[in-house]
Amino acid sequence: MIPFFPPDLFEEDRELLLDVVHEVATDPTQKFILGERTARFEDLLKAELGAADVVACGSGTTALTLVLMAMDIGPGDEVVVPAYGCAPLANTVLGLGAVPVFADIDPVTLVMDPDGAEALLTGRTRVLMPAHMFSVMADMPRMRVLADRYGLRLLEDSAVAQGAVLDGRPAGTWGDAGVYSFVQVKSFGGPGEGGAIVTRNPELGRTVRMLRNHGQDGVHRFRHHRIGLNSRFDEVLAAFQIRRLPGLARRIARRAEIAAYYTERFTPLAEQGVTPPPPGTNGRCYYVYSLLAERRDELKRHLAAHGVDSHVYYPLALPHQPAFAHCAPEGRRWPNAERAARQSLAIPVYPHLTDAQVESVADAVCAFAALAAPVR
Ligand SMILES: *Cc1c(COP(=O)(O)O)cnc(C)c1O
Repeated sequence: MIPFFPPDLFEEDRELLLDVVHEVATDPTQKFILGERTARFEDLLKAELGAADVVACGSGTTALTLVLMAMDIGPGDEVVVPAYGCAPLANTVLGLGAVPVFADIDPVTLVMDPDGAEALLTGRTRVLMPAHMFSVMADMPRMRVLADRYGLRLLEDSAVAQGAVLDGRPAGTWGDAGVYSFVQVKSFGGPGEGGAIVTRNPELGRTVRMLRNHGQDGVHRFRHHRIGLNSRFDEVLAAFQIRRLPGLARRIARRAEIAAYYTERFTPLAEQGVTPPPPGTNGRCYYVYSLLAERRDELKRHLAAHGVDSHVYYPLALPHQPAFAHCAPEGRRWPNAERAARQSLAIPVYPHLTDAQVESVADAVCAFAALAAPVR
């Protein structure tokens, strides 16, 4: 069986992980959070991205919350988010007492549709929060234009897209702020929870830096300037990520290579109701390789019978989640998000797949399509 969530994700780095645990545990400073390794990790990312500030924090989810808090988002405010994606897109907004307004997605790229988002703007809209999806970055140039035209803040949920580049500009640097997640399945995942905020606005950077540690300024201990969170960064993870950063580009290139092969194999399958993500490399992130399949559940069973594990990301559009349905206006529909929830199926794309495994995944998908009568 080719697993979807490989059990040997950090096998190559096992020694490294043991080393950094030992190093941090025996360091005379005995600092386990927000120490000099965290600061060095932030500086490395900042230099690489040309950002004004990078602030490491407890998770991608709290990274979104910290930015929304720094933007003073609260009751009475609306934040436009995609109708399809992960729960933090809605629950971070609701957690601050604001309202997520769900915009439908593009049927092919699966990212928030800029025209759909524009149609939902009201006098209460404060923030646009597009998210990069499985393998395609959101239309950030259009989002920037909308944010500027209507005087909105732009928060780029780039949790899945670290290392991706659109028109020469890295994911995370398009908005007033962007976020990354280091949870294990993400492109720069590690063995635990972690996230980061990227911003070109030094003032916003200073504010989130305070907010991540209970609103303290980092100079005076126990002086709290703002109501903050506990969303701090772990020194073991910082040490681990510092040493793995140089290999990130190679791992992303391998994901891109696998994805390009899949897309080439699957492009002829449209007649059989299987559609790969759009080809190309500009604005692509290979976090997850997701197909749209009209007979998704049958395809999933077929793959399992042929030794290929797959995964359904987001079987429900966000406005149909029990926790968020109260924010979905009566009668409003999100047809593309609803279709993606019915049809999307993710197949293995992690960098240590062998060429033979990649080929057998593709063969299994193609064999399913060959069995199927044309659907149209
Ligand atoms: C994973 C993810 C998050 C949250 O990151 P965590 O580190 O898991 O909290 C936010 N947004 C998107 C789009 C994600 O995929």
